[in-house]
Parts: sequence; structure tokens; C-alpha cells
Amino acid sequence: MAADSLVVAQGGRSYVNFASNDYLGLRMHPEVLAAAQEATLRYGAGAGASRLVTGNHPLYAPLEDTLAAMKGAEAALVFGSGYLTNLGVITALMGSGDAIFADKLVHACILDGAQLSGAKVLRFRHNDVGHLEALLKGHRHSVRNALIVTEHVFSMDGDVAPLEIIAELGQRYDAWTMADDAHGFGLIDPPVMMDIWTGTLSKAAGGYGGYVLGSRALVDYLINSARSFIFSTGLPPASCAAALAALQVMQREPERGSIALMLAQRLALALGLPNPAAAIVPLMAGSAEAAVAVSDALAAQGFLVPAIRPPTVPPGTSRLRLAFSCDHSAEQVDGLIAAMAEMLV
Ligand SMILES: *Cc1c(COP(=O)(O)O)cnc(C)c1O
Repeated sequence: MAADSLVVAQGGRSYVNFASNDYLGLRMHPEVLAAAQEATLRYGAGAGASRLVTGNHPLYAPLEDTLAAMKGAEAALVFGSGYLTNLGVITALMGSGDAIFADKLVHACILDGAQLSGAKVLRFRHNDVGHLEALLKGHRHSVRNALIVTEHVFSMDGDVAPLEIIAELGQRYDAWTMADDAHGFGLIDPPVMMDIWTGTLSKAAGGYGGYVLGSRALVDYLINSARSFIFSTGLPPASCAAALAALQVMQREPERGSIALMLAQRLALALGLPNPAAAIVPLMAGSAEAAVAVSDALAAQGFLVPAIRPPTVPPGTSRLRLAFSCDHSAEQVDGLIAAMAEMLV
């Protein structure tokens, strides 16, 4: 039954989906669906207002407490989505006269937030802490507040940021550190704390919503200053309840994350690709046309793996992005390995 949830029908054919971020199989989990249903009947289809007005239904507190406890943070705040979280957090904290040091490959919503904030935006080469330090040396003294921002597990590459060194640089240069954990949450624990974590409830948690974790003071400040929190309606009760139920399953069954990771590693090992840190394996194709050709060839064999092209990734790095779920069967993964092995020779 579980592996069936990854079979999708398109144009009269069925495909095994290797492009979903539902890494832990929680999007269709019976407990998650039941919680969403019950919350809708009890609290309504929508929140009805911004959380600061009357939209703060009783499901928020347990959801935020659970998120904070899972990551060992003091406090959590749930936003409408991961996009709204990054936008709201960055624009609330940073402004003109400040500087944001961002990894070259951070998600679009981090960049949008950085640009909207009015702060100076400096990009360091992907995971290059030497370059980051050079930028801090060159610019930190001339700005008021500084923020270093990266992703824990990078969404399109699946590699991890050197968070320990980034935390140390943050201390040394008096800069806040922030990491987006959209693709690590539920799969691998970060090695060190950041001042600020953001993430989404739409990937491993299988539903919808975004969150930020940090100190109580940070969260209290954001409640009254993050514009995408203040001026947007709260999450529907169903999304809150679904997320809470998903987090409970996640905590009770940590093996879900290990299985997704193991399947990703099984494919990488079989094809001689670098060992993945999380449930994402990129297969570089180069040009957009080459990526589409591989994607089409896999589709012909029954595997759904869309090509990822610019502007999602830099020009010349078009790729297939394989995403694994604990609900993929070993047979499904072995089928994909066989199809890809044929293409790679
Ligand atoms: C998907 C994603 C987001 C956006 O999350 P949504 O909840 O879908 O808005 C933010 N950051 C990263 C790294 C992501 O991959």
C-alpha cells in the first residue's frame, strides 16, 4: 500500500514518482489524514483571520512546542509557508546599513527576503567557508548587523553545509547564523545549533506551513515585526493538525528517515555517485536539453524524474534530482538503478 502512494498516473500511463519531497511517507499517512479531517470539522476550513487578530486557534501552541522540543530550541513560530517564513524572518531582522552573507545556492525565498530587506547582500561560493570569511573580513566592520545564511541540506544538490565552521565564524565576526532545514528535517540532525533555523512543513512533514526556531526573544520579536506573519491569515486548522500528527509519527518512527536515506545511498552506490547525506541524489546533465533527454528516457521506462533547469539551478548545471521516500520499495529503487545504469554506459 505504501509503495502505491508513489505511483502516479499521467496521460494514461503510470509512473513511479522519484520527485516528491514527501521523504517520510507522511502526506498520505492515515493518522495525519484523520487529524486534518477532525480539525476541519472542529475548527473550520480556515483560520478566519491573521493570528494576531482571531486566527490563533488552539492547535498552534502544541505544534510550536513540539517543533521547538524536537530541535532543542527555546521557541518556535509557525508561518503560512516556508517561503513566507524566510521572507518574514530576514526582512524583520535586517535592513539598510546591515549585511547578509548568503551561500551562492540558497533557495530563492532566502534571496527574495534578503533583497527586500534593503541590507547589502554578499554571496559566498557554495559551501566555501574561506570565501565567506574573506567577505566577513572585508565588510563586517562597515555594517551594523550581520547575518550569515545557508541551507542545512541543499535542496537541489543534497549536500550539507559546514555548519560547525559557520557557527564559529558567526561568533568570531559577531554575525547571526541562520540555516534553512527544509530538506534535512526528519532525515539528519544538524551537528550544531544556529541562532535561527527555518524550515517547512510541506516536505518531510507531508503537509503545508513553515516555521522558525530560535530564542524566546527572537520569536517574541518576530511576532510583532515579521510582516509575512502579521499581514497574512493563519494556517488552516487542518494543516496545523496534520503537521502535529506528522511530527508525532516522525518522533515515534525515526526509522522512516533512515530508510529514505538508505535507499538514496543504495542507488548512489550502485551508480558510482557520491554518497548522499540526505534523501536527494543529483545526477548532473549539464545543458537543459541533456537533462530533459534523460528525464524523457526514464519516463519511457516508467520513472517520473523531471529535469531541473535554470533558473532553479545555475546555467550549465541542469540535472535530474532524485528524491527518495521511505515508502519506495527496494524493487522500485532497483528498477530505477537498472534503467539508469543502461543510460550511463
Ligand atoms: C521548499 C523550500 C522552501 C519553501 O517552502 P514552502 O513551504 O514550500 O514555501 C524554502 N526553502 C527551501 C530550501 C526549500 O526547499
